[in-house]
Amino acid sequence: MEETLKNKIAVYPGSFDPITNGHVDLIERGLRIFDRVIIAVAPSLNKSPFFTLEERVDLIRKVIGQNPRIEIDVIDGLLVAYIKKKKAAAVIRGLRAVSDFEYEFQLALMNRKMDPNFEAVFLMPSERYTYLSSSIIKEVAKFGGSLKDMVPAVVEKELKKKMNKER
Ligand code: ADP
Repeated sequence: MEETLKNKIAVYPGSFDPITNGHVDLIERGLRIFDRVIIAVAPSLNKSPFFTLEERVDLIRKVIGQNPRIEIDVIDGLLVAYIKKKKAAAVIRGLRAVSDFEYEFQLALMNRKMDPNFEAVFLMPSERYTYLSSSIIKEVAKFGGSLKDMVPAVVEKELKKKMNKER
């Protein structure tokens, strides 16, 4: 009992294609509630990601740095199975606007159908990140707009480098 009380783990799953300041904001909020946060990067098979899985993990590592309370991992199967394996208490997901709600609601209910113990904690980002998404970031980068305050500097650099290579 003591052990579980002291070590509440949350899994933060997502595509992170790429990690944005909105994701970072959520991770920081997660750390205020949980003892450890596992960032679980999904291969995202049906979204044809811009960055490869390795590149996405590498960017997160560069942004997060060394933090004993944060683990970065790749999720290879069902989320409910992963949560059990990691002995996590809940999943963290973000709610930016009402538009996120429907999808998140469906996802959470599907996960709970597979595992009645499934719990999700929905966190609201700071107001200045509510309009941020990885897809919008990629659009802005494609047309050469500034990504200052939206993504960490290393992410902006890698985005521009990869965009130029693909031209
Ligand atoms: P997915 O493909 O699983 O939606 P994302 O990387 O796009 O992966 O998002 C992972 C989670 O982070 C989702 O719950 C999403 O709502 C949340 N999220 C993404 N961007 C933001 C943001 N700017 N503010 C708050 N939450 C966010």
